[in-house]
Amino acid sequence: MLNVNETTYDVPADVVDAIAKEVRSAAETLNRYPDREFSGLRHKLAAYLTRESGADLDARQIWAGNGSNEVMQHILQAFAGPGRSVMSFPPTYSMYPLYARGVYSDYIAGTRSKDFTQDPGDVAAQIREHRPHVVILCSPNNPTGTSLGLDVVEAAYEAALESDTMVVVDEAYGEFRQPGTRSALTMLAGRPRLIVTRTMSKAFALAGGRLGYLAAAPAVTDALRLVRLPYHLSAITQAAATAALDHAETLMANVQRIKVQRDRLVAELAAMGLSPYPSDANFVLFGGLQDAHAAWQHLLDDGILIREVAIEGHLRVTAGTEPETTDFLNSLRSYLNG
Ligand SMILES: *Cc1c(COP(=O)(O)O)cnc(C)c1O
Repeated sequence: MLNVNETTYDVPADVVDAIAKEVRSAAETLNRYPDREFSGLRHKLAAYLTRESGADLDARQIWAGNGSNEVMQHILQAFAGPGRSVMSFPPTYSMYPLYARGVYSDYIAGTRSKDFTQDPGDVAAQIREHRPHVVILCSPNNPTGTSLGLDVVEAAYEAALESDTMVVVDEAYGEFRQPGTRSALTMLAGRPRLIVTRTMSKAFALAGGRLGYLAAAPAVTDALRLVRLPYHLSAITQAAATAALDHAETLMANVQRIKVQRDRLVAELAAMGLSPYPSDANFVLFGGLQDAHAAWQHLLDDGILIREVAIEGHLRVTAGTEPETTDFLNSLRSYLNG
């Protein structure tokens, strides 16, 4: 399965043991409600993000929920809602319009360049035109795979200030970015309307654990406290995420392996005459197919499931282990050779 950008490596055995131990210890006090401030976890997330991005973050700046979908819902409940508007720039994560609908907000679809990149001046102009209450930038973007330069985030933020718009940068795939690419986390200082979201679903191989989080000004996390349901993060979730964070280094070794396969996909797809996009994520979007559905079906008949996207002649494939990547490339090559 190379269709939903999960990590295809199994959770490493020492991480499984650590999670089991931490969850067992949490089980001893499950008669009590969990720490509603999830203080231990927030400190660990702040320390991890500080190491990962070089930005200096503290626990008061961190918020978490059951997946970044809940975190995004909290953001929209606090800053959007009925009669307000949410803007993003398709092709991008298909959940954004659904999150907007879920809080009865209007959804505004911005536009991108033909090659799906975003230009700072153009993004700023679209925000000035529509004055949304919340604007979501996705970097690296799903499904295109490419990161935004911080000049784009900066231009969006400057335009957003004029309409009191909150700017959210969804960095779900942040750990997979190419060397030298800076995270928007490094822009948080002095920007009270900026929010950067992350998840443990991708790089931490914890999609089933449901832990999404964000970093922002402490006033933002205070606003999110007003909309969350009491005790929204279970003691089991807090325990599992804490144990995974203690093993971040082990898990990031798999991230490095996945990045090697990601770069290999881009190189080999180009060598086949297809058009892959540069990727900062754990997946690659590629075009140049006469009949994308037929290619997708051929792969499926070979037991390989990738993602059909709403872009003609294009498919998206998750970078898996080396053997999975080899099987995918061989099957696609046999399809192209008829
Ligand atoms: C996978 C993904 C997420 C993660 O969602 P979770 O609810 O944390 O599993 C968020 N944003 C984008 C763009 C994604 O592709």
